[in-house]
Amino acid sequence: MVRFFKRGSAKDDAEPAPVAKKSFDEIKPDPDKIGISGSVPFVRLPEPGSLFKARAERLLALAPGHTLEAYLRLVAEIARAQAVVEAERAAAGWDVTDPDEAGRALRVEHGMPPLSRHVIEADPSFHACLDGLLDALDLSAAPEQVRAARDGLRAASKEDRLDLAVQVFEGAIPVERVAECLFVSAALQVCLARRAARLDAKALKPVADGVCPCCGGAPTASVVVSWTPADKARYLSCSLCGTLWNHVRIRCTACGDGEGVSYYGLDEVAKDVQVETCTACHSYLKHLHQHRTPDLDPVADDIASYGLDLKIAEEGFRRAGLNLLFVV
Ligand SMILES: [Zn+2]
Ligand SMILES: [Zn+2]
Repeated sequence: MVRFFKRGSAKDDAEPAPVAKKSFDEIKPDPDKIGISGSVPFVRLPEPGSLFKARAERLLALAPGHTLEAYLRLVAEIARAQAVVEAERAAAGWDVTDPDEAGRALRVEHGMPPLSRHVIEADPSFHACLDGLLDALDLSAAPEQVRAARDGLRAASKEDRLDLAVQVFEGAIPVERVAECLFVSAALQVCLARRAARLDAKALKPVADGVCPCCGGAPTASVVVSWTPADKARYLSCSLCGTLWNHVRIRCTACGDGEGVSYYGLDEVAKDVQVETCTACHSYLKHLHQHRTPDLDPVADDIASYGLDLKIAEEGFRRAGLNLLFVV
């Protein structure tokens, strides 16, 4: 029987009590309320050399016997191909010089993310990245529709592929081309993770709630980590470039409200995977307690906890997170 319950009674699972709504500047990590005893790094830039490989391993670990086993295995294969392409590009000394160096400095100066759509439009290596990914994929076990999407992308013009990439970058995925966007997204993640990894973390500044400070992407999930100087800091994981950026706990990532935030779990889902809901804007985001289960991965565990999405949607909440490899 499905049992949907609100977390918070068990001492170890308890989220601290929600803080009263305050202005952006007033909400600071409070050691007594949110388990942070000092300043934490604002961002942790992605490590593309291990990001995709670890994700593929997590997906394969989650797949056996899962309701979505076939899909988890497909995304595992995509993540494996991403790791292959990333390793090849790293070995070849892929040039990550920003084609828009001047524009990047200007954007940072004006409080905007340094990586804009222009780094995709002006990056001639995007097509090689996408082709490398399509070549590295073994889709022999995938549905015909997925193989057709790969073949369609191979045959598509550069303009068409670039147009899709820009739409994905801006979070406007065309419904009729979801299968193709799966591969375009995967290629974008490879390109952007490497670019983000080369940024100066100390120069990055908050842009807005729920907006990646590197590329402007939406978060896939919220992750409570254990690697900060102070335990249990919360970071948001970018759906595009893989950057993690700090976000105060008990505050909605979509609207900034701090009063109507609650946490829910589901018996059928790993106990360290929850949703953070907000009654002010009726959105929710997956919330991963990675400090207790280090293997949790934002992309992989978001897919594996789809039962939680179905249940929370019944309660009237809409998804605030974006998983480019699982567009639902
Ligand atoms: Zn990003
Ligand atoms: Zn909200």
